[in-house]
Amino acid sequence: MTRVGYLTILPNSNQAKALALMKPIYADHNATTPLANEVLAAMMPFLTEQFGNASSAHDAARKPARAIAQAREHIADLLGGVAPEQIIFTSGATESNNAAITGAAKANPARRHIVTTQVEHPSVLERCAEMARDGYEVTFLSVDGEGLVDCDALARALRPDTLLVSVMHANNETGVVFPIERLSRIAKEHDPGILFHTDATQTVGKVEVNLQTNLENVDFLSLSGHKLHGPKGVGALFIRQGVPWRPILLGGHQEEGRRGGTYNVPGIVGFGHACLLARREFSLWREAELRRDRLESAIVDGIEGVQINGRQAVRLPNTLSASFSGAEGESLVNLLSSLGIYVSTGSACTSGSLDPSHVLRAMRVPENLIHGSIRLSFSRYTTDEEIQRICEALPSAIQKLRRLSPRSGGWNPSGHSTL
Ligand code: PMP
Repeated sequence: MTRVGYLTILPNSNQAKALALMKPIYADHNATTPLANEVLAAMMPFLTEQFGNASSAHDAARKPARAIAQAREHIADLLGGVAPEQIIFTSGATESNNAAITGAAKANPARRHIVTTQVEHPSVLERCAEMARDGYEVTFLSVDGEGLVDCDALARALRPDTLLVSVMHANNETGVVFPIERLSRIAKEHDPGILFHTDATQTVGKVEVNLQTNLENVDFLSLSGHKLHGPKGVGALFIRQGVPWRPILLGGHQEEGRRGGTYNVPGIVGFGHACLLARREFSLWREAELRRDRLESAIVDGIEGVQINGRQAVRLPNTLSASFSGAEGESLVNLLSSLGIYVSTGSACTSGSLDPSHVLRAMRVPENLIHGSIRLSFSRYTTDEEIQRICEALPSAIQKLRRLSPRSGGWNPSGHSTL
């Protein structure tokens, strides 16, 4: 017996046996990714015999310190071959985002205006809301129906006292990629003193992120280990050389005084190795994107009353945000989970709460569709068989929920074909 939201579904014995034989399909890689085997292998020595504190003066620090330097180089290479000293390690993108915004403000006290968007990750939105409570003025740019921010709206929002523009590189719920190259150029052309931050947590390793060429106007960039088959609890912040910024975590002299705290050596080594692997396997995304597109076409062709969010925009190759009328997103997540298919309603950070997605709301997706939304996010390792199994499971799952859901509003599931 499985609880599916407010529904209880009893799989029959054949279904139950078949399900038991199948490996679950993890389609929630924007929430987190599994650690790659070779990343774990790279980390192992630093979880065991190479346990030294990288800042110690004795020989036990030698290998950990060298491994950190190498990890920094791997990350710098993935970001377009920037100088590694411009990267500091953090506990993840949440800390990186907070450090970019707060650190920029501390170093530029005369500037009191921040521009961001309505669809940022909560670690940016909540930090900006706190800045507003501290007396800053914050402009939250709206997005259009495809989830894109208007470049002219950014130009209009900029002021003589604008401190920082913070716009994510790609949205974690829809996968929509923002034109950071253009947005950062607009900010710098308006006033070279305006700082530009981008949260690239979802793009690094999936699309080209080059801080030397197209993203040369970006001053701060956040990234996280666990979104690209590295470990959780480790991230990085790129801080362009010479940019005015002050640290938020004070303590030891690690990171040349830019971030106190004993180095998380195994985490940093794993993160670095994950970046190396992402570079080496970058071409796998071409096939992975086609796989996502095949599933998307199958959903659109095979299920009535569905909308793919951000479909006309440039998107990450791995993300699919679908809204089904007359079905309840939470129930669909639970039902698919009982079938061994793991997806989410929106971002994992907010899906624990029943608040509807702030991203889809900002895109003015109708309320009934917002409540029927799920996000599927794949990895470069997702297989055709996994996509096929999702294709097979989804139509009947939607049909079942539409029949039972009080939100169905009389939705007639007859006439649904299978995928
Ligand atoms: N920004 C974005 C766009 C994200 O998707 C996430 C993770 N959901 C974060 C920031 C936070 O990353 P971390 O878990 O490393 O703190």
